[in-house]
Amino acid sequence: MHLVEETPYRFRLDPHGAMRVPGVVFASRDLIADAEQSLQQVANVATLPGIVGASYAMPDIHWGYGFPIGGVAATAVDEGGVISPGGVGFDISCGVRLLAADCDRARLAPAFATVMDGLDRAIPRGAGPGGVWRPGPGELDHILEGGARYAVARGYGEERDLVRCEDGGAVDDAEVREVGERARERGLGQVGSLGSANHFLEVQQVSDVYDESAAEAYGITVGQICVMIHCGSRGLGHQICTDHVRVMDRAMARYRITVPDRQLACTPVDSPEGRAYLGAMAAAANYGRANRQLLAYAAREVFRRAAGVHLSLVYDVSHNLAKLETHPVDGRPRRLCVHRKGATRAFPPRHPDLPADLREAGQPVLIPGTMGTASYVLAGVAGGDAFASTCHGAGRRMSRHQAARTVTGRELRARLERAGIAVRPRSWRGLSEETPEAYKDVGAVVAASEGAGLCRTVARLVPLGVVKG
Ligand code: 5GP
Ligand code: MN
Ligand code: MN
Repeated sequence: MHLVEETPYRFRLDPHGAMRVPGVVFASRDLIADAEQSLQQVANVATLPGIVGASYAMPDIHWGYGFPIGGVAATAVDEGGVISPGGVGFDISCGVRLLAADCDRARLAPAFATVMDGLDRAIPRGAGPGGVWRPGPGELDHILEGGARYAVARGYGEERDLVRCEDGGAVDDAEVREVGERARERGLGQVGSLGSANHFLEVQQVSDVYDESAAEAYGITVGQICVMIHCGSRGLGHQICTDHVRVMDRAMARYRITVPDRQLACTPVDSPEGRAYLGAMAAAANYGRANRQLLAYAAREVFRRAAGVHLSLVYDVSHNLAKLETHPVDGRPRRLCVHRKGATRAFPPRHPDLPADLREAGQPVLIPGTMGTASYVLAGVAGGDAFASTCHGAGRRMSRHQAARTVTGRELRARLERAGIAVRPRSWRGLSEETPEAYKDVGAVVAASEGAGLCRTVARLVPLGVVKG
């Protein structure tokens, strides 16, 4: 596929075939070499009815279900623009939460092994059921409607957790009746659980701060201990995606929509099917926030008991979500449905939806890298691009299968432990699938994102211990 290099970090795919808008890939030359295969997906997304601007891809782009992971697409709601569950992904509201400890590495050191063992016991994970909290059947609705707000109201957190969570801990437009019976069953037993191996809870240390004033607003300093949690909406979100893709796949013909790939099944945002998915997706988004809230609570208890350390929320943000937002298109504000799939919202300084203490710094963006290298905190910038979006991780370079062939879980754990990183895996196979070599260079991804003008780098974090799903 022919790409035009517009700048060192921006490549354009001119419209051809049924594409309604161009494709725009933010990447460096090195990173774009890894993205080749996924460009067809960028082109496919550009054919969606009502798409505006471009079909965007972030530097961590890789192959996904219908949409690429690292894809951003916005559709005009009042012009028949569509919503597609494939543009959100199966793990609805998968995201990252970062907590900052009131201590540095030296102070944690005597209790470190006890903390890691405590986390190993306290953090439910793996593919099956079992969570921090077993809600009664009636309570699931409260979680779906109230998200992290409900968890905090029930005593699993503090008020500040809600101030520092995207959407104040919950969105208001959840429609619990659009969540099917099977989704509810799957979700009920998994409230407060990590899931499988790309999901993790990591103890980290801030190795570098590049933007002092933003870091100060976020509450992080060099040497500080942090805890990063990456997980989503478990079986509940997965089932919602499955159910609504099926409904939209059947309904598309009625709206005379054709797509180049059935995985792009979609209907107008403003249609019964579109509204049903939006309501169910919002419920899953709330479940995802409650899930991370409960895991943060469990981690907090471990740190408090084992080390007398307190963890404060830096921020919590999803990287798999569609949202109704207003952005200027061709100079006028338009109501858009912004799909971010493996991409993070990055609001600029002074955005009205930011909490007061983050107004000047811009929205924190949390980027996991790998358990053997580094992770980053970024900030949204004025004049960003792709409807205020940036990358979400390092991005996969190898399939899970390929990765597992390069190293065994036991070898990998020994290697990481030699490098001073404590590893508490749930499964050896799952661990090997997540070997750092399976991912792109997160430093290069972050540099390309900043180079493309999507965000600013605030801090770098290195892993000290990882609890893997
Ligand atoms: P995804 O949401 O696409 O599954 O994963 C997001 C990102 O998490 C991946 O692109 C990868 O960079 C990162 N990641 C996966 N496992 C780990 C881990 O154990 N530790 C850290 N720090 N990052 C990870
Ligand atoms: Mn996920
Ligand atoms: Mn994720």
